[in-house]
This record gives sequence, structure tokens and C-alpha cells, in this order.
Amino acid sequence: MNMFSEQNVARISFLCAVVLVAILTVSSGLLFIANKFDTLNKDLVTLEQDFIADEKEQLRNDVSSLQANIASRSKSMKSVLERNLQVRVQEALMTAENIRSTMKSRMSDEMIENVIKEAIRPIRFNDKQGYCFILRLDGEVILYPADTNLEGTNFFSNNIYLAPEVVAEMIELVKAQGQGSLRYDWFKPHDLSGQRVEKISYVALFEPLGWIIGTGEYVDNLDSLTRKTVTNELRESLQGNIPDYFFIYELNNIGGGKDFATMLINNNRPDLVGKPISDDYTDAKGKQFRKEFLKGIREKGEAYVVYWYRKTDGSGDGRKLSYFKFYPEWNWVIAKGIYFDRLDEVIAEKKEELSSKVTEDIKLLILIFFGGVVLALLAAFFLSKGLQRIFNNYRHAQEEYAKQLETLNNELEKQSQTDALTKINNRGYFNEQLAKEIASAERYPNPVSLILFDIDKFKVINDTLGHLAGDTVLRELAALISDNIRQTDVFARWGGEEFVILVTNINIVQAGKFSEKLRKIIETHRFSVERDITCSFGTSTYRPPEKIEDFLQRTDEALYRAKKGGRNRCVSC
Ligand code: GH3
Ligand code: MG
Ligand code: MG
Repeated sequence: MNMFSEQNVARISFLCAVVLVAILTVSSGLLFIANKFDTLNKDLVTLEQDFIADEKEQLRNDVSSLQANIASRSKSMKSVLERNLQVRVQEALMTAENIRSTMKSRMSDEMIENVIKEAIRPIRFNDKQGYCFILRLDGEVILYPADTNLEGTNFFSNNIYLAPEVVAEMIELVKAQGQGSLRYDWFKPHDLSGQRVEKISYVALFEPLGWIIGTGEYVDNLDSLTRKTVTNELRESLQGNIPDYFFIYELNNIGGGKDFATMLINNNRPDLVGKPISDDYTDAKGKQFRKEFLKGIREKGEAYVVYWYRKTDGSGDGRKLSYFKFYPEWNWVIAKGIYFDRLDEVIAEKKEELSSKVTEDIKLLILIFFGGVVLALLAAFFLSKGLQRIFNNYRHAQEEYAKQLETLNNELEKQSQTDALTKINNRGYFNEQLAKEIASAERYPNPVSLILFDIDKFKVINDTLGHLAGDTVLRELAALISDNIRQTDVFARWGGEEFVILVTNINIVQAGKFSEKLRKIIETHRFSVERDITCSFGTSTYRPPEKIEDFLQRTDEALYRAKKGGRNRCVSC
């Protein structure tokens, strides 16, 4: 079967369109999706890098701002503590003044001094370490709760604390400005080694008695107080800072070691707070991350370390990134970390977002595919319709041409068999028919006769009426004979003004009679040229097995004899 038959064209064009659309859509779709996934993978890598970079920056900022916060808190704490010294002295002054003014009418100056001294003595502050002292302007020690043995002695002459310049400075200060703070190096109570440490004091002149009332605090005490307070504050304020929590170590040995630090703040590990920690601690993957951050602290004062550590939600260990920063003022390491779970969440979210986008794209692609199929169907439908029409037109044209050709062939055949002037059979056709009949007559005993006739004195017609009139006679005669013979008779123009009739199934006698009948018809017919037209007839019947030429010859001879015999007559032979 021909695949591209007329009926299949529509189906094949439809199939081609669908296959084409499918191939184009699926291949471009696959390319599109592959490209999407490629971009997704690249995006995820960039995402992780960006996330880590952002988080590093964020951690550093957080730690730095906490450090700045600690520094400013420490500063303000210190100044508060320092101001407290002033407040204490002011309170002591008020106490002294109060006692003096209420007692002065009832007590002697000496008694009043004693009452004031003993009223101020028990005042304690700053973890009971702080106290007030009283000196006279000449350096005599009136009240010195840290070492009562010194009371009654003179700082300029007691030779116990060899720091007369400090006392002189105090006296000078109160004389000049009434009260104020000053820093100096002083001895620790009961420490007779002679070693001095920095102290800060506030002193004021109590004029009625000519006393200097003051209080002071060792700077390191202030520092540790500040640190303690700030640490407590931090513990409070960082309480809820989970899961990206801060943690603070106090370094005991920056070089590392078993007790290299004390855990100061760590809300995730309250069990470790206040306890010494070792640098050989290994995380879940066997990494000694404390050694790593310590190295960074030593070399650069800061470090980023990725390690595994217990998660705040109790779900085991998680990978985390922490930033550690050295706070040299207090020998602290302040740190903050973030668990990578959040990154995983972000990546999962991004993946979800992208995969749902890809799914949307695939849906769209399927829609386009079906749209394409519908379009292909429509295109194929109209294409097949068009093709069908073209084929039908083509087929109709073909059929029309075939018909015309047949007509033309018939026409040509007819023409080839017809005499142009008389429109009856020509001699060629006649010969063919004669041959056929003779062939048949040789096998079957059917008689075949020839009637050959010639217009008498036709030349005269031509000569007198003209050649065209002669033609008219020829046409009219042919028509006349045609009307008077049978369908089966073959009538032809033999040549010039000579005609022949092939008659079957009649013998020579009947053929002769037939000739005679025709002769009379002609003789009595009125031609348009208004001349009598007669014809001479020669008739013969085939005598098998004679040759056609002989048969014709005999007929011609009969005609010849009819002419010779006087014309307008029939001769049979
Ligand atoms: P006969 O009685 O002996 O037959 O005398 P005839 O004049 O008929 O015979 P002849 O052979 O002398 O002349 C025949 C003439 O027929 C001569 C020729 O010009 C004429 N003729 C032959 N064919 C045609 C034709 O197609 N048209 C016309 N007009 N004349 C033709
Ligand atoms: Mg003739
Ligand atoms: Mg003639």
C-alpha cells in the first residue's frame, strides 16, 4: 500500500505536526528544566557562601557591639562606683554635721568628735570592703577602720605607712577646693611589705572640726566589682538569647592548657558556667576547636571556627560557626555562634521555592505542548482539507483531460476514417473493413458483396457549373446513399466521383437488385444543382479464396462494363 496515498496525506501531516511539536516542546522543555536545575545548584553554592559571609559579618558585628556595650557598661559602672565614693563622703559629712549641731550645746568638743568618729566607723559598702577615714589637717589619724592601730598617730610621723606625699596631697586638695577625688598608690591593709596599689579616694573638709573625711577604693577592687556587676548584668540580659547565643570565657592562660579559661557566660551550658575548661576538648568530629580559636586570639585577637556543638533544643550536636574576640581589658573572650541548621532551612526553602517554580514551568510546558498539539491538529486539519481540495481539483482536471483526450482521439480516429468532403468513410477505413469481412467470409459462409459506382459524365458538371457545384453534388449524393443503405453496410468514397458499398449477407442477385434500387434513387433524386445525376454500378460477390485485389478488380470491371454499356446502369459479375 502506498503510504502517501490520497487518504493518508491528512493523517500523515497531522502525525508529523504532532511529532514535531512533541519533539520541539519536550527537547526545549528538557533543556529549560536542566538549565533551571543547573542554576539552582549554582544558586545554592552562592547562597551558602553568601550566607556564611553574611553570618560572619553579623557575628562580628554582634560580638563587637556586645564588647562595646561591655566597655561602656564597665566605664559607667566605674564612674558610678567612683561617684558612690563621693556620696558616701557626703553622707558622712551630713552625719558629722548633724551630730555636731545637735550635740554641741550639750557635749564638749572632744565628746562630739568621739561620737562622730564612732558613728562613721561602722559604715561599710562595696562588699564590706569600703569604709570612711578621718584625718586632721595636720596629718593625725582620727578614724582608720582598716587598721585601728593607726588611730591617734600621724601619717607624717608614724613611719608605718611611708606615704606622706599622699596625705599632703589630700590636705592640699581640701584646703584648696573643699572636696574632690584623687588617685594615688596606697598600701593594702595589714600588708607590711611596703607594696602599694592604685587607689582612688574622695575627700572633703569638715570645717567645724578641721577634719578631712574621706573614703577610697582600690582600683582593682573597683575593677572586679565592675566586672562582677557587668557579668551578672550580662547573664541576665543574655538569658533568652537562644539559639544564636553569646558565650564568654575568662582566660586564665592565653597559651592554653587544662584550665586555660573559666566559662563565665553560656546559657546553652549552665553546667559549665563558673568552671574551668580545657583546650583539649574535642567536638563530635574530633576537632579541638578551643585550641583553634585560642590560636586565632593569640595571633589576631579574633577567630572564626566551624565545629560541632550541642544544640540548644537538645536535639544533639549541630555544625556551627562561631566568632571569638579577645577583650584584653578583662582578659575575656567574647563569642557568638550560629548553627548551620538555619542555612539548611534557608537552602531547603530556596530548593522548595525553585522546585515549585520548576513544577510550574513544567505545567506551563505541558500546556504549551497541548496548545501546540491543538494548533498542529488545526493546522493538519486545514492542511489536509487544502491538500484534499488540491487533489480533487487535480483529479477532476485529470479526468477532464482524459475525456478531452478520448474525444480528441475519437475525433482523430474518425477523421482518419472519414472523407473530408462527403463526411462518409474514406478508402483507408473501407479497406480495413473489407479485409475484416473477407477474413470472416473465409471462415463462415456469409456472402460479401461490393457495389462500386461512378457518377456519369461528372466532368461536365465541373466544367459547366464549377468545381464547387461538383463538390455539392458529391456531398448530396453521399448523403442520399447514406440514407438508403443499412446500418451494417459500409459506405465509402473510393476516390474522385467514385463510391463503394460493402454489403454483407446478400448474394450477387440481391446485391444487383440493391444496386438497381440505388441507381433509380439517384436518377430520380433532385439535386440542388438542378441537373440530372446518374451513376453507373458494378457489383460483384466475393468468391473465396480469391484475393481482395482480384475481388476489387472484378468489381471494377463490372463498373467498367456498365460505363461501356451506356452508363446509368448496373452490371454484376
Ligand atoms: P464518365 O462518365 O466516363 O465517368 O465521365 P466522367 O466525366 O465522369 O469521367 P472523367 O474521369 O473523365 O472525369 C471525372 C471528373 O471528376 C474529373 C475530375 O475533375 C472530377 N472530379 C474528381 N474528383 C472531384 C471532386 O472532388 N470534386 C469535383 N468537383 N470534381 C471532381
Ligand atoms: Mg470516374
Ligand atoms: Mg464518372
